[in-house]
This record gives sequence, structure tokens and C-alpha cells, in this order.
Amino acid sequence: MTAPWTYPDFDDHEGVHLFRDAASGLTAVIAIHSTHLGPGAGGTRFWHYADPSDAITDALRLSRGMSFKNAMAGLPMGGGKGVILADSLRTKTPELLAAFGRAVDSLGGRYVTAEDVGMSDADMVAIAKETRHVSGLPVTAGSAGGDPGPTTAKGVYLGVRAAIARGLGKDDPRGVHVAIQGVGSVGGGLARLLAADGAKLTLSDVDGKRARTLAEELGAVAVAANEIMMVEADVLSPCALGAVLDERSIEALQTPIVAGAANNQLATPADADRLHARGILYAPDYVINAGGIINVALEYLGQGDRAEVEARVAKIPERLESIWAESAATGVPAAVVADRMAMRLIGRG
Ligand code: NAD
Repeated sequence: MTAPWTYPDFDDHEGVHLFRDAASGLTAVIAIHSTHLGPGAGGTRFWHYADPSDAITDALRLSRGMSFKNAMAGLPMGGGKGVILADSLRTKTPELLAAFGRAVDSLGGRYVTAEDVGMSDADMVAIAKETRHVSGLPVTAGSAGGDPGPTTAKGVYLGVRAAIARGLGKDDPRGVHVAIQGVGSVGGGLARLLAADGAKLTLSDVDGKRARTLAEELGAVAVAANEIMMVEADVLSPCALGAVLDERSIEALQTPIVAGAANNQLATPADADRLHARGILYAPDYVINAGGIINVALEYLGQGDRAEVEARVAKIPERLESIWAESAATGVPAAVVADRMAMRLIGRG
């Protein structure tokens, strides 16, 4: 296996840690990109990789993304990410989760984990038996923490409203047409919030029944998953997968605004320029979708309750506005402006 620092996604990461525990079958990577602002925080992904090097690439890329996300959310946290390599012979046994908990603990608090794809709050409870550097645990009502989805949805909703105000000059989403790709935890929550405001919604999901059921409940329209990116609307809100904005899809977009929850929406850095060249107002993904990390970071830090979480999530529109203002003033794409701001915040600008 090649050394992590030879990978294209290596960006002066502070540490890339590889773990193997023969007894439980754990194979894992923990990448710490930056601890400039605080412990490297970011969830752990449990995923099948065709090749172990893909797991390292994922950890490198995602931990850097967490540095940027946490910095732009104003959190005293750096960026890190855990990846557990799943294989067809093993499941997430308590022994495997315990071994991962010990791996996290061995980093002495330089990395704080939480849920990501393939991991649940019950898994965090298992990990917490071995380390205190874990968040996203079940919490009591009124406390910070727990399922990040609804808080992410609230932040995205506020960001969509800010985009509508800037891009369309409308303070009220009533009658504004929003097309949502993916109506799971975040996209579904966003749809409900916008429906309550009287927005016109077009919904889609690869789980067609899920989209149709929600559309019926909210008086919206459901379209097939392969149609949503081309719907003529005011806002496209990608809330499913990453890399949905590429040369072809950007060319075909029929919305003046793209603002959604999905991580890593741009397939390549050049796609930031493509959106900008088309005059599309883009809400950088890691800025608009920071609600969930704000929720679990405050839980970990023991700093505050739901009201504090809500107050911090309410600042997401201000951050977006400062990015759009700088983008308009300099002609630099919003995604690039956000990256530069984040780099400055983590002492690398
Ligand atoms: P989820 O799994 O609850 O929902 C995703 C939905 O997208 C599912 O209903 C799935 O069927 C659907 N989907 C998958 N591929 C699709 C496609 N090609 N077209 C249409 N629908 C498709 O996930 P979630 O928690 O709602 O997260 C959604 C996105 O937001 C992900 O990219 C995630 O990384 C990102 N995000 C989530 C959070 C959070 O707090 N949950 C925080 C930050 C970012």
C-alpha cells in the first residue's frame, strides 16, 4: 500500500492512522486533517471499499472537508474522519465496535467520532464504552445532540430562504418552487418546513414510494429520480448523493439557485467555475449543511442545550451571505470563496 502522503487527496494532514485488530476483524483508518481550532471532529463511515486505498482516500478527503465545515460553523473543532472497512464476512459486532472505540481512544482526544453513513447512535453507545471522545449519543429532550438530521434540515431550510432572498429578492418562500433530490432524513425535513411556508415543491427519491407518499402528504409533485436535476424551478436542493453537479448536469440545470444538504456536491473543482459562469447562486454544501455537526459538537463539548444549537444554526444564513457578497465583489465562485475563508480560519490561508 502506498504511503498516505503520496495520495492526491493528501493535504498536509496532521495524521493518518491505520488500525487492525485481528480478534474482532477491525480494519480502520482515522485521518486527522487539522487540530488548529480544536480536536479533529467528524463521523465514522462503515462502508465496503473495492480497494483499501479507496478507504484511505475517503478518510483524507472527508477529514479535510470536516476541517472546513467545522471552521465555517464557528466551532472550536478541527477536522477528522473515521472509516471502518466492511467486508462481506463480517458485521458490526460489539467486539469490532469496541476495538474501534479503543482505536479512537488511543489518539487521546485528537479525534472525536460520531455517526456517518452505516453507523447508528446505538453504535456510538458501543464505542462510548471504550472512549469518551464520541458524540451523537442518544440524548434527553431539550439537550444538544442526538440525531443530527432534523437540525441539518433546519439549517438547510434557513439557507434556502437566504438564497431565495438574495437570488430572487423574495423574503417569503410562498409560491417559490423548490425541487428536492432525496427526501430522507434531511430532504424530507426540508420539504416539510418549506411546505409549511407555502412553497411549491417537486420531490424525488430513488425510493419512488417515499417521494410519492411525502408529495401526497404535502400537496407536492413527485417526479422520477432521473428527472429532478432538470426540473424548471427556482431552487434545486440536492439532498441525496455527492458529485451530482458535473459538467453535464450543470449544463442542463433549469434553476437559478442550488442549495442543498448533500456533502461534496461538486464532482470536480472546475464545477464551481461552471456554476458561476452560468450565474447560478450556489450555497457551498459544507456551510449550509452544518446544522448536524453544530448539534453533535455542542453535545460533545457539553456547551449548551437545544436553544444554543438553534441560535448557532440561525447564523448559517449570515455565513452564506458573506460568501455570496465576497463572490459578487470579486468574481470568484462561491465555492472557492468558502474554501479560502475556511483555509484562513484553520491557519492555512
Ligand atoms: P438519508 O439516507 O436519510 O436520505 C437520503 C435519501 O436520498 C434517501 O431517501 C435515498 O433513497 C435518496 N436517494 C439516494 N440516491 C438518490 C438519487 N440518486 N436520487 C434521488 N434520491 C436518492 O440521508 P440524509 O441524512 O437525509 O442525508 C442526505 C444528504 O445530506 C447526504 O449526502 C448526507 O451526506 C448529507 N448530510 C446529512 C447530514 C445529516 O445530519 N443527516 C448532515 C450533513 C450532510
